[in-house]
Amino acid sequence: MRTLIKNGLVYRDGAFVQADVLLDNDRIAEVGQKLTAKADSVFDAIGKHVMPGFIDLHVHLRDPGQMHKEDIVSGTRAAAKGGFTTVQAMANTDPVVDNLATVEYINRKAKELGSCKVLVVGALTRNSEGKEIASIANMLKGGITAVSDDGSCVQEGRLKFNALKYAAGFNIPVIVHAEDYSLAGSGQVNGGKISTQLGLSGIPALAEEVMIARDIMFAEKIRCRLHIAHISTARSIEMVQWARQAGLDVTAEVTPHHLLLTEEACVGFDTNTKVKPPLRTEKDRRACFDALREGVIDFIATDHAPHADYEKDREFTLAPYGINGFETAFCSLYEGLVLAGELPLETLVQRMAEAPARFLSLDTGRIEPGLAADVIMVDLDGEVSITPDAMLSKSKNTPFLGRSFKGRVLKTWCDGRITWDADDAE
Ligand SMILES: [Zn+2]
Repeated sequence: MRTLIKNGLVYRDGAFVQADVLLDNDRIAEVGQKLTAKADSVFDAIGKHVMPGFIDLHVHLRDPGQMHKEDIVSGTRAAAKGGFTTVQAMANTDPVVDNLATVEYINRKAKELGSCKVLVVGALTRNSEGKEIASIANMLKGGITAVSDDGSCVQEGRLKFNALKYAAGFNIPVIVHAEDYSLAGSGQVNGGKISTQLGLSGIPALAEEVMIARDIMFAEKIRCRLHIAHISTARSIEMVQWARQAGLDVTAEVTPHHLLLTEEACVGFDTNTKVKPPLRTEKDRRACFDALREGVIDFIATDHAPHADYEKDREFTLAPYGINGFETAFCSLYEGLVLAGELPLETLVQRMAEAPARFLSLDTGRIEPGLAADVIMVDLDGEVSITPDAMLSKSKNTPFLGRSFKGRVLKTWCDGRITWDADDAE
């Protein structure tokens, strides 16, 4: 199967240039001017942008075990619609991904039924309980790409130190959801002005910062790969910057919602603004944005965390943390950062495709001959309406409901196969 995408503005080496792209089965075969190769299907991309498929290294597909929220089929379809061709699924399923059988279940189901590639994160500790180290060696046989107890942050210092040391032996990144539970308590929103105003308990910035400080100090001692998930405070970023300058292998990601929203969004008690870490202050948001632009934060990850309507549709304090990310990520960032004149489009694409691919040494993330045929075609003037009916995820929980953004993904090819086609959806 050969596909020719003609006359698009193609993302290459950090810039958009007019070119044709030829896909041959699951590889990019050729990129250049006026390609004449024979193809089974030809697409005219004149006036459209052709980008590498996006890569989301922090997602929850809820499969196995919580398929009323999402499953591998619905989650990867929503991802393909958002322009993603690779996602990395976190381990907090039911059962937890702490054994080879569950890794293989996800691998098999994603391969047979998925609309994008699914990388699997193994738990750092058994059942993510923070009591004993999980069998990382065993899960590596199934190809896990990272380890993490995301959502269940290991509190006990000695265990975390030993787990980092063990993981270092495999040169696998450890992804940290940094949260000191004794400080976070049952906090609902960011600890500060808004929590006081709303009469809700707050999660102080410190709850994140002390864990990052601790783990960076561990990483300094051990020299392991430490990746900070969904970073959210200005002080956390300063610490990552310090670690980088000290030559440590410390990396970080940020979510679209922490780049676009602040704690002010919680004022109406919309449970679709309840996330962990919480939406922070404008100073923090600005720090996240600056760090992303400058490359101190390496890439964007959505933390797609779907929940069923009935779970979110209740009192703020009872609703679970987390929001849908796949179907709003690119368009909300394009409108909120690129069209707002804050960030070049090229940088956004770099942080959503090239940088996460480099982090895991994946053979995708750029439009280069020989790499995986993971490509998307985008109409930057096309509108995306964020309505429950239009969403492919089982979860409709997004703070952007009712909004409309520019930056529509028209087609997604994953390994050369069309996994999203906006024409079919109409
Ligand atoms: Zn998390």
